[in-house]
Amino acid sequence: MRGAKVLHGVYHDYENFTAFHVGMHRHRPGFRTPVRGLYLAGDWVKLPYPAMLMEAACTSGLLCANAIMAQETLQPEPIFTVPERGLLA
Ligand SMILES: Cc1cc2nc3c(=O)[nH]c(=O)nc-3n(C[C@H](O)[C@H](O)[C@H](O)COP(=O)(O)OP(=O)(O)OC[C@H]3O[C@@H](n4cnc5c(N)ncnc54)[C@H](O)[C@@H]3O)c2cc1C
Repeated sequence: MRGAKVLHGVYHDYENFTAFHVGMHRHRPGFRTPVRGLYLAGDWVKLPYPAMLMEAACTSGLLCANAIMAQETLQPEPIFTVPERGLLA
């Protein structure tokens, strides 16, 4: 319509992001594998934190690095996430 003002728009990008559908969480692999020395990092890895996309990729990488650090008795990196309890949860 000519002259119409757009008040609200929704943009979907179906191709570029990992999609997580209802019920998928339990099927996603964690960062640990049964293979010694093999860890999984990426935004599709199941995490114990509410993180997605880049944050999930980074967090899963930190979990892998920390698991290796623990094997080598080195100090782990702290992992920051959103508060899961309290006012800002
Ligand atoms: C246009 C766009 C905008 C985005 N904006 C945001 C944003 O604002 N905020 C946000 O949080 N996330 C955003 N994302 C999502 C974010 O980029 C991804 O969630 C994140 O990059 C996933 O990281 P990853 O390490 O799991 O995978 P990737 O970053 O995809 O890394 C996988 C790597 O593996 C390589 N690879 C693939 N197959 C092979 C192979 N067979 N052998 C060797 N290497 C291989 C690829 O080349 C790639 O380098 C955006 C994504 C896109 C596409």
